[in-house]
Amino acid sequence: MLEKKIITQLRNVVGKDAVLTSREDLNAYSYDGTTTWTHAPDVVVLPTTAEQVSQILKLADESKIPVTPRGAGTNVSGGSIPIKGGIVLCTTRMNKILDINKTNLTATVEPGVVLQDFNIALAKQGLFYPPDPQSFLGCTIGGTVAENAGGPYCVKYGVTKQYVLGLEVVLANGYIMNLGGVTVKNRTGYELIMLFTGSEGTLGLITKITLRLIPMPPANKTMMAVFDDMAVGGQAVSNIMASGVVPAKIEFVDNFVLRRIEEMTPMGLPVDAKALLLLQADGSPAAVEAESKQIVDILKKSGAKEIKVAKDASEAAMYWKMRSAGFAATFGAAHTVMAEDVAVPRDKLVEFIRKLDEISERTGFFICYLGHAGDGNLHPSIFTDIRNKEEFARAQKAMEEIFEAALSLGGVLSGEHGIGLEKQRFLKKAMDPVALNLMRKIKTILDPNHILNPGKIWEEERV
Ligand SMILES: Cc1cc2nc3c(=O)[nH]c(=O)nc-3n(C[C@H](O)[C@H](O)[C@H](O)COP(=O)(O)OP(=O)(O)OC[C@H]3O[C@@H](n4cnc5c(N)ncnc54)[C@H](O)[C@@H]3O)c2cc1C
Repeated sequence: MLEKKIITQLRNVVGKDAVLTSREDLNAYSYDGTTTWTHAPDVVVLPTTAEQVSQILKLADESKIPVTPRGAGTNVSGGSIPIKGGIVLCTTRMNKILDINKTNLTATVEPGVVLQDFNIALAKQGLFYPPDPQSFLGCTIGGTVAENAGGPYCVKYGVTKQYVLGLEVVLANGYIMNLGGVTVKNRTGYELIMLFTGSEGTLGLITKITLRLIPMPPANKTMMAVFDDMAVGGQAVSNIMASGVVPAKIEFVDNFVLRRIEEMTPMGLPVDAKALLLLQADGSPAAVEAESKQIVDILKKSGAKEIKVAKDASEAAMYWKMRSAGFAATFGAAHTVMAEDVAVPRDKLVEFIRKLDEISERTGFFICYLGHAGDGNLHPSIFTDIRNKEEFARAQKAMEEIFEAALSLGGVLSGEHGIGLEKQRFLKKAMDPVALNLMRKIKTILDPNHILNPGKIWEEERV
């Protein structure tokens, strides 16, 4: 419980209507995209300027009050759960697109801008910002930078960190620091922008972001391929990547997800398919024509049972809508859904799928998965019920085996969702101990009182 005087001080900084303390409001900020974590904050503040953020952090640092940064709360790693209580600092009122520069191909935004609003503003000017987490309808750009989010377009265009040119970050002591700028090239000192990108709200509060843009590709073509076997689909992905063509997107959907989506929104999907690959080629019309022919040819040779090439933009949009509904389809499927996010080298995708089949058979848990196959990034999900302690413990054990399988193939604990609360107990297995210790030291230098998103990434010990 926070002292009353802190609430009064917060009201003095941001105004009465931007400080939420009712039970209902606190509950609304007590969860995120996970189904396993929940904890209510003592107060929620909704600042509108970096100066206000600075004053809130100074106040919190002096009184050692935990501060959990939050955008839209769509993350799926427990990242924005205020696990130690205290203040949730939510950026959704910092939602201005400050500049779109068509000549310099850059944009500067406040952190609370919703990704889809940004995409629409860019499209009006023929511009494109590729990182496209499938929560784009709600997630904020600040959240995507803090998570270094990815999405289907990342096969060809790379993840968020490849687009961040400049950041304004408020440090734990309230100092407003500027990093980078608006140039595509910048070799001035250490890459501190990279340190804050993906830092999950543990190192500073991002209050302004400058992003690199590219011109909107003039043409694209969507293809859908049906497979009888997940592993055969996985092999098709490897074959495409080895052929010299880089599609803009290669996504995987399994039979379970396919059926759930068709149940929720009937659109005539091939519900008997064991696996489905959804692909897109983009670029100039001539390049798209040539690349899509090459992709279709490889898909046929790789054993696709059926291939559909979308005849127009509305058919393509329907397929991609299906893909973006994938998470919703899995999350609604059980009381507790453990949706993971491992990534393996692309040439190990088939081996990983076989290992998943084996884990599923041995543990008795059905594993459903979809994901960004072109990046070797899959989201295996286990359905369970946290209220059934014995079953939940077995499900956790099965998930651990999935992590171990990914690591044993040279993969990583998280491709895009971050460590948050979900994966911190596996960090020691996945990282060089010296690197881990270095990260802890960096945290302590930047946030000596450990007020910023405490309890995340790091296990409890300090340096
Ligand atoms: C249906 C669905 C589909 C998804 N698909 C994808 C996908 O394809 N790819 C992908 O990468 N992710 C995906 N996600 C996960 C999630 O949407 C992303 O992680 C997204 O980047 C989170 O943005 P947010 O605004 O909701 O941030 P939040 O969830 O509010 O916060 C995420 C983290 O960032 C920190 N944070 C937020 N704002 C700031 C700030 N201004 N400064 C410092 N730290 C901050 C928080 O403390 C937290 O640790 C999906 C989630 C859902 C529910």
